[in-house]
Amino acid sequence: MTTLIADSVACSSHVHPIASAGARPEAYDVMVVGAGFAGAVMAERLAADAGKRVLVLDRRPHVAGNAYDRFDDAGVLIHQYGPHIFHTNSADIFDYLSRFTAWRHYEHRVLAVVDDKLLPVPINRTTLNRLYGLDLQTDEAAAAFLASRAEPVDMVRTSEDVVISAVGRELYETLFKGYSLKQWGLDPSELDKSVTSRVPTRTNCDDRYFTDRFQAMPAQGFTRMFERMLDHPNIDLLLGVDFRDAREAHPHQHLVFTGPIDEYFGWCYGKLPYRSVRFRHETIDAAQYQPVAVINYPSLDVPHTRITEYKHLTGQQCAQTSITYEYPSAEGDPYYPIPRRENLALFKRYEALALDQSDVTFVGRLATYRYYNMDQVVGQALAKYRWLASRWAKPEER
Ligand code: FAD
Ligand code: UDP
Repeated sequence: MTTLIADSVACSSHVHPIASAGARPEAYDVMVVGAGFAGAVMAERLAADAGKRVLVLDRRPHVAGNAYDRFDDAGVLIHQYGPHIFHTNSADIFDYLSRFTAWRHYEHRVLAVVDDKLLPVPINRTTLNRLYGLDLQTDEAAAAFLASRAEPVDMVRTSEDVVISAVGRELYETLFKGYSLKQWGLDPSELDKSVTSRVPTRTNCDDRYFTDRFQAMPAQGFTRMFERMLDHPNIDLLLGVDFRDAREAHPHQHLVFTGPIDEYFGWCYGKLPYRSVRFRHETIDAAQYQPVAVINYPSLDVPHTRITEYKHLTGQQCAQTSITYEYPSAEGDPYYPIPRRENLALFKRYEALALDQSDVTFVGRLATYRYYNMDQVVGQALAKYRWLASRWAKPEER
């Protein structure tokens, strides 16, 4: 069996026992809650660039947050919390992460099951030809076909409007309605337009999911990359510890919080809705399960939204293969902020409280209630760090 990674990851190898951190109760300049992208970037910059002493803690027993990957029993590098595909247009963000990892070039492709057909997503010319038995040869022909189906919408406000105004109701119902109902527990007409706007419509035959300038996977996995980010003499790491139980034991000058913002404020205005997902990991006794890394299931006849096969992401060659089913749910760990007007209004109330806390910085997908990709969280954390560092700089250094 070949795996990409020679040294399989042991997250605990960097854990400093609580006793050692506790031996220097006065020593931390900053406590960082959460060892995902937001927390790791903040901790790395604070330690390596600003020379601060940092305590990073996470209630999970591992680093990397939702991007955590690990080798399963078959030796496949799987993503514990669903498929994470790195892509960005920002050279700065890519260069920053490249300090901690080499990369494996990877362009993501997704197919959707519709009856007995496998259709490229996002919708492209191949999708139309395969679904309708057409032979559209040019971009113009595909654009004309879509224009004949699209329904004009005066003001595009919802996720339903986005799709219907681009491709019409039939394609919307075939590829988006059921998937979104399962994913969000809401009809797309109840979701902000930003949700389905993430998926473009194409008239060419480009079948890549993303068209970003940089598309690659960390060559040794996300977890290894995080270990390197956090491997700094100024950083101590406590895993399996909740902020609630550690905040008093480890005094600090400043707090960086990357967990759910409503939880930080004791849900004083009520719970912010987050969508959760149950992940079912399986190993199959075959070298390959499906032709691409992700297959979407828009039909309401099955409860899962998608199945991921990881070997496409890693390029591993082994006898077995591992896959993950995703079953979205209301209960469970918070994974997705739910973009809709009333949720944003509730978040704004929490954000107003956050703005009053000058000794706390809120960063990341849960703390700023934004449906951000990994690169956007890195960008947000780098920007927040620069802002903090400038605030802390002595006047003559500004
Ligand atoms: P998280 O990764 O959630 O990290 C927050 C950490 O804080 C967690 O580890 C949590 O345990 C910890 N924490 C929270 N509260 C406390 C507390 N009180 N005490 C201690 N610890 C606490 N992005 C992409 O770019 N490409 C993708 O393909 C992609 N796919 C995704 C698929 C799924 C199923 C999901 C859910 C997300 C996906 N994302 C993807 C988004 C990506 O996961 C996020 O952008 C990124 O991981 C957010 O990082 P974060 O640090 O803000 O949050
Ligand atoms: N979507 C859909 N059908 C698809 C793909 C996406 O309806 O085949 C909608 C769905 O609402 C989804 C959103 O578009 O939540 C964004 O898709 P993306 O693939 O970006 O979701 P993520 O990877 O963040 O879960």
